[in-house]
Parts: sequence; C-alpha cells; structure tokens
Amino acid sequence: MARGVTRMSGLFLRTLREDPADAEVISHRLLARAGYVRRVAPGIYSWLPLGMKVLGRVEAIIRDEMDAIGAQEVHFPALLPREPYEATGRWTEYGPALFRLKDRKGADYLLGPTHEELFTLMVKGETSSYRDFPVTLYQIQNKYRDEERPRAGILRGREFVMKDSYSFDLTDEGLDASYARHREAYLRIFARLGLETQIVSAMSGAMGGSKSEEFLATAASGEDTYVRCPASGYAANVEAVTTPAPPDESVADKPGAVVYDTPDTPTIETLVDHVNGLGLANENGARTFTAADTLKNVMVKTRLPGAEEWTLLGVGVPGDREVDMKRLEASVAPADVALLEDADFAANPFLTKGYIGPVGLAKNGVRYLVDPRIVTGTAWVTGADEHGRHVVDLVAGRDFTPDGTIEAAEVREGDPSPDGGGTLVAARGIEMGHIFQLGRKYAEALGLTALGSDGKPATVTMGSYGVGVTRAVATIAEQHADDKGLVWPAEVAPYAVHIVVAGKDPAQAEVAAGIADGIAAAGLEVLLDDRKASPGVKFADAELLGMPTTVTVGRGLANGVVEVTDRASGERREVPVDDVVGEISAGLRPS
Ligand code: ATP
Ligand code: MG
Repeated sequence: MARGVTRMSGLFLRTLREDPADAEVISHRLLARAGYVRRVAPGIYSWLPLGMKVLGRVEAIIRDEMDAIGAQEVHFPALLPREPYEATGRWTEYGPALFRLKDRKGADYLLGPTHEELFTLMVKGETSSYRDFPVTLYQIQNKYRDEERPRAGILRGREFVMKDSYSFDLTDEGLDASYARHREAYLRIFARLGLETQIVSAMSGAMGGSKSEEFLATAASGEDTYVRCPASGYAANVEAVTTPAPPDESVADKPGAVVYDTPDTPTIETLVDHVNGLGLANENGARTFTAADTLKNVMVKTRLPGAEEWTLLGVGVPGDREVDMKRLEASVAPADVALLEDADFAANPFLTKGYIGPVGLAKNGVRYLVDPRIVTGTAWVTGADEHGRHVVDLVAGRDFTPDGTIEAAEVREGDPSPDGGGTLVAARGIEMGHIFQLGRKYAEALGLTALGSDGKPATVTMGSYGVGVTRAVATIAEQHADDKGLVWPAEVAPYAVHIVVAGKDPAQAEVAAGIADGIAAAGLEVLLDDRKASPGVKFADAELLGMPTTVTVGRGLANGVVEVTDRASGERREVPVDDVVGEISAGLRPS
C-alpha cells in the first residue's frame, strides 16, 4: 500500500456512540466521540492519531505564516525557575493560576503559563547593539494554567498548546510595524484555519495608549462576551468598553440635599416608588424619579497580589445598572476583588448595609470610585448612612467628591458606542488570539537594553502575540460540525479523502484500494475504511470523523460507478470509477 493511505483496520481508533458524560460543548463531545482526544484529568487531554494530524496541520499553518513575517522559531522548557518571574513580579501576580513546584533541593519552579520573561532574557543574552534589532521569535509549546473552570474540554485546558511570539524593537514606530505584521499574519492564519473571527479591542483606555486586540472566533458557546457597533464597525471586549462621560452640569442651580425617612425600601424599585410618593416638585412641576436617578454604592474589597490585607472600596453606579464583576476585576487588576461578606460589615460598623452613601465613605476614609456618568453637577438619590434613610439631591462635586472613576457598570445593548458611531449590540466568541503591545515593562524589569546607533543604550520595546493552538482545533470543531459529526475544512482535515468499502465483495475492496493509491500518488492523504463492519457503521463513522470528501465503493461498482459525497454540503454524485482519482486530485489541495 502506498504512502499516504491509512487503513482503518489498522488505525488506532475507537469511536464512541455516546457523548462523554462531562462534555458540555459540541467540540468536546465530537472530538471525544470521534476518537481525536481523551480526557486524563480536568482540563488535561491526550491526543490520539487523528487528533495529532489536525493539531499538526494547525501548527504547520501557524509556522508557515509566522515564518512569512520573518519570525524565527525557538523552544523553551515548560519547567522554569522562579527567579525571572520574581523579577517581573509575576511569581505572585499570576495568582492561583500558576502551577508552582519545588525541586528535590527545595528550589522554587513553575510550569510556564506564558514566556515573556524567558524570551526577554534570551534576547538579552544574544544581542548587544541596534544592529541585532528588530527581531521576532516564536515557539509552539505547552502552557500550564490552573484554570478555575476547566469546562469546555480542550477549549480551556490546564495544559494546552500555545503559539507565542514576541517582537523586540528599539523604537515605538518599530513596535507599531511589528504589531501590524502580526495582525496581518493572524488574519491569514485564521482564514486558513477556516475560522470566522472578529477583531475586538481588548484594552481599556485606563491602561494607557498601548494597543491590544483579541481575535475572537464567533460562537454561541463562547465564554467571551463582546459588543460591537454595527453602524461604525467598533468592536470591543466588554471589559474594554469605555463609558462616554456626559458634560459636567452646573452645581449652582441644584436644590439642596435633603435626607428623608425611607422605611421598607430594600430595592431600588421600592426606593424609587417611595421617593416619587414624597410629592417633590420644582419650577417645572412634579418631579419623577427613575432608577437611573439613584446612586447605588456597592461595597467591595481589593487586595494586591502578595498582600495580606484587603482594602475597602466603594463603587458607585447609577441604580439602573448592575456592577459587572468581570469589568470590575479588569479595572482593578492586578489586584483581586471580592464582594463584602457579613464579617466585613461587622468589622466596619459605619457601613449601614442598604443605606451606604458617598458621604459616610468619605468620612471614614474609604476609597470611592464612580461610574463615568456620575459627573460634577449630577444630583442623586442615595444612601444617607443611617438605617431607613436616603438622601435626595446629593450633588457630585458639591456634596461629595469621588476619588476617581471606574469602569465597573454593566454594558448593555443599546448603550452608545464609545466612538460615537451608533449603539452597541452584544455577541459571543472564543478568544483565539491576542496581540498586545507590551512596551518596555519586561525589558525594564530584566534589563534588556541595546546600544543605539548614537552610542547610547536604549531600552527595548516588546510586543507579545499568542494563538491558542489546541484551542484552535476545538474552535474549528465548534464552527464546523453538524448533528452527525465533525466537518473539517480542507486545510486542517486529518485526511483529504475517506474511502468506504461498503460491501463484502472482494472486487469492491480491490477497486477501493486502487482509488486510494491513485489519490495518494497525487499527494493527498487518504483514509480507507477496509474494516469488516456493516455499511451503516462505516457511513456513521465517516460522518462522525468528518473528512471533507467520502468515496463509497459499493453496489454501483457493477455499473462502473462510485459515489462521491461532500461532507459539508451533503451533496452526493456518482462518478465513473475511471474518473474518480483524476477528479478528486484536481479538485483538492495537495497535502
Ligand atoms: P482567556 O481569556 O480565554 O483565558 P487569555 O487572555 O488568558 O485567554 P492569553 O494569555 O492572551 O489568553 O493567551 C493567548 C492565547 O492562548 C489565547 O488567545 C487563547 O487562544 C489561548 N489560551 C489561553 N488560555 C487557554 C487555555 N486555558 N486553554 C487553551 N487555550 C488557551
Ligand atoms: Mg486566561
């Protein structure tokens, strides 16, 4: 049998009729049932021969496109010493997601979650002057992260394969160019992988001007929610959405703040009803309040990595919005954040649960950050720091002065797009890639400088770029599957053609083998189902395994024809035996 033909009778493969019990997403169900991967522990998987083929093809595409932009491949160990990560602060900052371990002498090691430090040190060791720059390096390697919720199969592994690359430039313009090249390469990679992606901005304005974008594969099962503005094309991670602040208002024409008894108002709704029942009026007549006129003060505590103590933080948002914990987390990162528990309230008796207001927080020295909509001159209904009492017309900039703003309120469909181009709609995706202008942070921490052409040392500026390689395999399966199984795009399919010998007639087996050899000779890889199984089992497996084209050699052979099926469209046609090799080899790519 020719190279390029794999007989299923000898293939190390067992397909499953049932979904694995723990499989929540379609990629996990199908990749397990079709015998591509097996679970070893939560978030930890083994790859079987069919899975290895897809993984290999995905890696080949990534290598091809990285090489095309002049990136050079290197390889680092996954087992790493503590020191470089200590120097950048990430030994502690990375938190519980970092796998830390000790060697027999008691020295600290970690399993690399990402390799900025090592790349920086490698470049530091091998370069000295501006002549050595720019340089871009990459690797395809296992990463380790003790993810909190390793559900979703290989979409979110605790051990997974990532392509990570890093660019090193001496100038900001150089970094911009390196970043742009990666962006283009990523667009080509995802197109070749057959993935439909959306580029979203990933960095909030608060973190400075450095650029960061994510490539999200559109998928209803995606863990990432993003928003986009159909009118302007703006798209961003929910964490990165900035809230346009309305203009400041005049303080002078605002009525004075008045405290009212507000018994039995445990919710914003009951509070609004109560205030509307007070019969307040101004020169325009009766005043009506809505939830958006109330100021909700959510108490949280934050803790910097490595610190023991938690610090109180008050977060003020308009009462018609919830605090979005993911946005809050992103805003306070790298600090951790948690809601206050009963014990915290007990330890801080000035906090009158349900009636917390900005004035009480200021009096007690609690840091207070507000939503950007809460600008100077806006008047609010909010807690009066006494049980059963609220204050009306507490004016920002007059009666209280927040310590700053924070992006923590939920983003809603219909909100104005930050670019002023329209309104936002929500969508879901899977993060496939991330490109990020790191700047000089790592180079500074690890002392990576180069002698410039002017003879002065300059600190190198870096970009960091990741693609989830194992995640790509699962994401392709998410986007390309139906109720019968996987539907691989041609460039990543384990085999280009799946040949099924339908009956027991030896003539069928012989013709099928001949077709397989012919297609393989044309440079395509072929899977030949020569098993002694029923046609029904073979057809079901062919659909489950998902090769782009199936050739069935069956009863039609008596009339000199075989059946060619396109997996994606389901379209079938009869082709004369003598034409099938030529037709298929002409229509498909060489592997
Ligand atoms: P996520 O938000 O999904 O956790 P991340 O922001 O932590 O991703 P990066 O650190 O930027 O991801 O890693 C680069 C790429 O590696 C991601 O874009 C993603 O494709 C992939 N990746 C990250 N975490 C995992 C994981 N646990 N399993 C598989 N792939 C992952
Ligand atoms: Mg992550």
